[in-house]
Amino acid sequence: MSKKKVAVIGCGMSSAAFYHFLDKNKFEVTFFEKSRGIGGRMSSRRIEGLTFDHGASCFGAIRSEKFKEFIKPYIAKGIVSEWNGVFKYLDGDSMRYCDFEKKERLVCRSQSNLLVKDILSHPAQNGEIKFSSKVIEIVNDGQKRNSILTDDDIVHEGFDYVISSAPAPQTLQIFPKDFCFLKFLRAAEYYTTFVLMLSFSKDQAIDFSHLAVTNSIIARISYENSKGGNRDFNMDCFVINANNVFSRATQNMDHEIIKRDLLDEFLRLTKLDQTKLKDAILHRWLYANAATSYNYPVLLDTNLNIGAIGDYVKEPRVEMTFEVGVEMAENLNHLN
Ligand SMILES: Cc1cc2nc3c(=O)[nH]c(=O)nc-3n(C[C@H](O)[C@H](O)[C@H](O)COP(=O)(O)OP(=O)(O)OC[C@H]3O[C@@H](n4cnc5c(N)ncnc54)[C@H](O)[C@@H]3O)c2cc1C
Repeated sequence: MSKKKVAVIGCGMSSAAFYHFLDKNKFEVTFFEKSRGIGGRMSSRRIEGLTFDHGASCFGAIRSEKFKEFIKPYIAKGIVSEWNGVFKYLDGDSMRYCDFEKKERLVCRSQSNLLVKDILSHPAQNGEIKFSSKVIEIVNDGQKRNSILTDDDIVHEGFDYVISSAPAPQTLQIFPKDFCFLKFLRAAEYYTTFVLMLSFSKDQAIDFSHLAVTNSIIARISYENSKGGNRDFNMDCFVINANNVFSRATQNMDHEIIKRDLLDEFLRLTKLDQTKLKDAILHRWLYANAATSYNYPVLLDTNLNIGAIGDYVKEPRVEMTFEVGVEMAENLNHLN
């Protein structure tokens, strides 16, 4: 029997989980990824030899037994490890510190897309990944066959299934208007988040690995060097996440102003010396996180053979996004 052809939009955690659990004897997969690399919101920025986990800074497995089991071999291989460090709360008003609640924090060895990369490391055996390939429309022929139009004006025909892992607003733009779960996509709201990546010369005392900040426009600060693995940089690197209120209020403002505000606040909170600053780069995640836990069912339209996975389906966390991908794969395996 010939294999069913599946198109997957996006190469983040949900599609990696989907791919891993899909029965490769029944399906072959083609990925369409608009960026040049793997990982989606679990990816890092490389800037002059330095690595910044500018998406998910860490993750946990507490909420998902399935994920906990799944990552054991990756921990054994050293791809994933515990982020052991000094985790503190900081009140931006009183400038008082208190110890952070002890919880599991996992990181990838050298950069945050390593886990997704490893899961997808052999897709060529059963399909392929088309990078820099933005899907702009999915057309269903009414006979459960789907074509994909990409931004280079190529029509990719003959897919039995299409699964989109793009955030709900982006999936809405490309899905057919008769997709039966459209109302779920419309209802999913997202937070925008600004992330500031900073590097400093390495001669100041840093007494934290991660700061969770209250009463500030900054929500958290990660000291990237403290994550271990191959992060023995020749500079001190920080990733600063602006809080949701600030990010929403400023999302269309001049990035230089936002950068300045976040940098000033970072210097005030950490008391680091601005003259040691080497580089400051701002990134905006327009769809950083689904705003709440929606706990939707599996979003597979069996009339069109089109489905949607991603953070908004259950909870906006790495381990729950993983579960969404697994459940979609199990559905397809069962139906075919
Ligand atoms: C700043 C930030 C901090 C976070 N911190 C944490 C944390 O500490 N802990 C935690 O558990 N989670 C955290 N998260 C959330 C976590 O990263 C996400 O929930 C998870 O990575 C989402 O995976 P996904 O597969 O659903 O989507 P994504 O990773 O976004 O994957 C979707 C992919 O689709 C691609 N794509 C989109 N549209 C198209 C198109 N039209 N054509 C082709 N490709 C397309 C994108 O490029 C992307 O690669 C954070 C997220 C951000 C942004």
